Amino acid sequence: MAIVTETSTEMYSLLKELFPICRSLTGDGVRKTLSVLQRYVPLKISEVASGTAVFDWTVPDEWNIKDAFVRAPSGEKVIDFKSNNLHILGYSEPFKGEVTLSELKQHLYTSPEKPDLIPYVTSYYKRRWGFCLKHSDFLNLKDGRYEVEIDSTLKPGSLTYADFVIPGKTKKEIIISTYVCHPSMANNELSGPVVSAFLAKHLIEHQSSLKHSYRFIFIPETIGSITYLSRNLEHLKQHAIGGYVVTCAGDPAPFSYMMTPSENALVDRITRHVLKNSVEHFNLYDFSTRGSDERQYNAPGVDLNLGSLMRSKYAEYKEYHTSADDLSFVTPQALEESLNMYIKCLDVFENNATYRCQVLCEPQLGKRGLYPTISTRESGISSRRMTNLLAYSNGERDLLEIAEKTRVPVWEYFPIAKQLLEHDLIVEA
Ligand SMILES: [Zn+2]
Repeated sequence: MAIVTETSTEMYSLLKELFPICRSLTGDGVRKTLSVLQRYVPLKISEVASGTAVFDWTVPDEWNIKDAFVRAPSGEKVIDFKSNNLHILGYSEPFKGEVTLSELKQHLYTSPEKPDLIPYVTSYYKRRWGFCLKHSDFLNLKDGRYEVEIDSTLKPGSLTYADFVIPGKTKKEIIISTYVCHPSMANNELSGPVVSAFLAKHLIEHQSSLKHSYRFIFIPETIGSITYLSRNLEHLKQHAIGGYVVTCAGDPAPFSYMMTPSENALVDRITRHVLKNSVEHFNLYDFSTRGSDERQYNAPGVDLNLGSLMRSKYAEYKEYHTSADDLSFVTPQALEESLNMYIKCLDVFENNATYRCQVLCEPQLGKRGLYPTISTRESGISSRRMTNLLAYSNGERDLLEIAEKTRVPVWEYFPIAKQLLEHDLIVEA
């Protein structure tokens, strides 16, 4: 039976509030989304002018849309942006006029293999206008003249993004990046900003004990991460030790993890270990299946080591980029489970460390009160863990490696390390 908690309810209601907003790479949909998220987290909003060169790309013109429809010869609106914002081809330039059915068809996009779903299609970098509709509706269009109106603007403006840092004891940063550029779709993408916002809220509540600093980034996908990196790369290369692209985290499917190109970065080791020790099944994807902002964060020379912890991976589920990725596809419980899995991973980032045993040859634990005076099964296990930690801590192996070698969840070692530190038996290498 699914347990409905306060957090899962709050997460789902934020997702529901953001769902109707028509987001895109740029424009008021992004701004409105960020202003809703600002109620939860201290977002710092930036605007970058259209035409700005960002590495090999250029910030595009800003797109906004008020309304769009196609009226059939019968007078009926057969395609209506107001009934579902997926009906408009993203970045459609303005258009008003009458066209024949065959002219109209040049501007219609459907998915014949999913005839009852509206596909999500964009044309960011070539000026076009168009509509997306169910293939079943497309087949019903009758000959005649159609009235088309797209009340949009596509002109120089700016690209909007937001970020903020939750400072910890050290300047070493963990990056949490998510995107805010898709219209009404729940798993890809709104689960990303929702899980990220609640993750930030959790870290802010525990800020006084944080070792690392956490940088949260809310951007439009691809051009947003390229823009962000072009402005912050030097700082990030100096301070970031890894992180995540948060996306597709709201459906109840088993977890998926996409690794960095090296497959052995700290984030890879941590996430694989946490999943292996927390759930029965998970899917592991290598970087050849990349598709989101990890492309930019892990580009050669950028090398920031961001992985992606998801549920159903984008492009791998049939609802992906269609009208079926809706509010019923994600669940409050799945959102909270994803949040908790991220918290678990970050907790390992916080507590993993490399220690060196301070005593030559085996330390005598008994005289320090660390060895059980009575031998039970439990006391045997716990003293074995303590001696394992001491025996493997040569100043080179971190707790994660020791945990893997000794087949124990790494979090079992955290309180033991604390105890040994208090007795000066180990020191951080
Ligand atoms: Zn997408």
